[in-house]
This record gives sequence, C-alpha cells and structure tokens, in this order.
Amino acid sequence: MNAEIISVGTELLLGHTINTDASFVARELSTIGVNLLFAGTVGDNVPRLKEALESALSRSDLVITTGGLGPTGDDLTKETIAETAGKKLVMHQESMDRIVSYFKGRELGETQKKQAMLPEGCTVFPNDHGTAPGCGFETADGKTIIMLPGPPSELIPMLKNYAIPYLTRGEKAVIVSKIVRVFGLGEGFVAEKIADLTDCANPTAATYAKDGEMFVRVTARAESEEKAEAMCAPVVEELKSRFEDFIYGIDVESLEEVVVTELGKRGLHLATAESCTGGLLSKRLTDIAGASQVFQMGAVTYANEIKTLLLGVPESTLKQYGAVSEQTARAMAKGVRAKSGSELGIGITGIAGPDGGTPEKPVGLIYIALCDGEHTWVRKMQHAGASKGREYLRWLASSNALDM
Ligand code: ATP
Ligand code: MG
Repeated sequence: MNAEIISVGTELLLGHTINTDASFVARELSTIGVNLLFAGTVGDNVPRLKEALESALSRSDLVITTGGLGPTGDDLTKETIAETAGKKLVMHQESMDRIVSYFKGRELGETQKKQAMLPEGCTVFPNDHGTAPGCGFETADGKTIIMLPGPPSELIPMLKNYAIPYLTRGEKAVIVSKIVRVFGLGEGFVAEKIADLTDCANPTAATYAKDGEMFVRVTARAESEEKAEAMCAPVVEELKSRFEDFIYGIDVESLEEVVVTELGKRGLHLATAESCTGGLLSKRLTDIAGASQVFQMGAVTYANEIKTLLLGVPESTLKQYGAVSEQTARAMAKGVRAKSGSELGIGITGIAGPDGGTPEKPVGLIYIALCDGEHTWVRKMQHAGASKGREYLRWLASSNALDM
C-alpha cells in the first residue's frame, strides 16, 4: 500500500509549529509495512487543500491528513475532504455525547457541535484526549482516507489505538523490525557495504543516520511473529559479520544504555573528567536508570588550575602540551579514576568552537582517553570540523567516549 500524508495548518507553513505529527505518522506507517511516498503541508485554505487532496488521491492508495478537525473557523479539513471525496457529513451521536460530557454541562456552541459531523459510513476514531474525533473511510474508487487531529497529544494515541488497527484490520501479516546500531562508520560506507541487502523486498534492510550514528532497520513480514523473526535473523547475522565491532547493539535504546548495562554485568565502575563536553557525558550516563550501580563521579574541569587541583594533571603537562592534548586527556582519565576509586576513568578535552581554534589545534580537535589502571587508550577526533557546530561536536565527543 502506498501512502501520502497531508499536514494541514498555516502555522506549519509559517514555521511556528514543527511538523512532528508527520514524522510520527511516518514512523508508525513504516512499522506496518506501508510505503510512504509523499508528505506535504498546506495552509488552512480550502482550494489548496482540495488541490493537494486530489493529487494525493490520484497517486496514492492511502491519504492521511493531520490537523484542522477542531471547532474554530480555520478548521476546514473535514468539510473539504468530504466534499472532494463526495461524502455527506452526518451527525455522529456517540461523538456528540462525548463532546457534551467533555464540557461537563457547560453550554456547547455550534462550532463545538460541528466536530461531531463526520463523513457518512466512516469508521470513527474516538478522541480520548480531546474533543475532535478522527475517522477513516474508503472513497468510491477504493482509496482510503484517514483524518487525524493536529495536537500531538491527541494524534499519537488516536493513531496507535484506532487508526493503525483500522489499517491492519483483517490482515494476518505480522511485521517484525530489528534495528542494528552502528557507531564509527560513515553513512556512505555503511550503505555501500549493504547495497545487496537493501534490494530485497521481504525482509527489507534500510539505513538511516542520526546524531553521528548509523542505523540499519531490518523488517520482515510473515504470517506469524516466529516466521518474521526467523526471516530477520539471517540478515542480522550477515550485518554482524560485515560490521563486527562497529555494531554496539541490536534493538537497544542508546550507547549510554549499553554502557551502563555492560558495566553493570561486569561489576565495573566509571568516573568521568570532562572539559569541552561540560558534563554531557555524565548527563547521558545518568539519564539511564540504574546508572548509580556503575557511575561514580563526573567532574567538569574547565580551567587548567582545576585540572591540576582536582585531578592532579601536572602543571608541566599543561604547559608543555596544552590543555587540548593527548597527554592532558590521559592525565585527566588517570586522575579521575584515582580520585573516585573506579576501575575506569575517562578524560575528554578539546575545542568545541566556534572560536578558539588555531592552525595547529583547529576547532573540532578533541582527545578522549580511557584508563583502566594498566592501559590508557586515546581517541583523537579531528575531522568533524568547525562547520558542524559546538553542540554537535560535544555530542559526538560524548558518543565517542561511550563507544570506547
Ligand atoms: P484543535 O481541536 O486543537 O483545533 P485540530 O485538529 O483542529 O485540533 P489544528 O487546529 O490544526 O488541529 O492544530 C492544533 C494545534 O496542534 C496547533 O496549535 C499545534 O500546536 C498542534 N499541531 C497541529 N498540527 C501539527 C503538526 N503537524 N505537528 C505538530 N503539532 C501540530
Ligand atoms: Mg484547530
């Protein structure tokens, strides 16, 4: 089934509201194997919505609209769609009763009542978190139209609880997805290395990149969960053999989750000394429930004197090599390890920019050291570059530390 999303709302076109509805709908559609081919946005404008709907219906089997179902004058989605699809709007008593009870006896205006007017013969999706119901119906030429309200707090539960079951009604197929998470390899490299796997229709393999990481989603559709799992398994095995240690987890939430879990399993403790990341690494670690079992301390040592005072970084090291150097990162890792009594210490020092770079030490040069008391490993980041921006460089540094 090929689908298209039309998001309705002038505030989206003005850039005042970020279109999170479309990305949520897109993600949910991918989990049931619906191919989203187009996603567009139109303002609260009848002729333009009509035009968008007509072209969507001419090329897609399923059209999902978001927004414009409410009581105000600019909420015109339902009226426009019903007219375009040749459907009459009729009063849906159950929705009316819900709206009446939502207002707990306060008097209802005509505009509130219009929310209970729905296309004749549609499947109504009750709004458990607001007033405007959504709905789904088929047009005379067998196309499916689904209308969902704009507020994410209403759209998300309605999509999950009513619209997705409506779309998968009578269907026996089960969809299973596995997300293989890769760190440290570029998007182009990963995509090239699995080009042969992404050609297949079932199971499918698709790559996407986010926040400096790569994900490969493997999806299989079969009559039962066991069969779909069994279809995914060989592809996942193949990915493991192609990417080996660059894979840090399958169906896990994040690098930090894996680090906390794995340290916990090994009974190891970690302490961090951060300069340019300003505590981001300890923030990410402590985001994970159970971090207290493995995370001992995080020190943000920005000034040179504090690196010496708190972590015992020798003044001579700072003087000879500078704060942003492999030697300082090593000394920070060693120092925080010793201070905290942890088995593992991490030190991060670098230039996150946008200022402060020199030809020898450009913005984006970051050293990360990991010390276990016997060895100290150092990773040097230098190719991300200043154009990536301070926030991204700091994020990437904390991700690299977790990856180490
Ligand atoms: P309401 O009954 O609240 O009027 P509605 O279905 O008419 O619901 P809209 O009027 O289009 O929805 O939007 C209501 C609010 O929902 C907007 O102010 C905005 O905050 C949010 N919203 C609308 N569309 C989107 C979207 N595509 N992504 C994220 N938020 C959205
Ligand atoms: Mg509205």
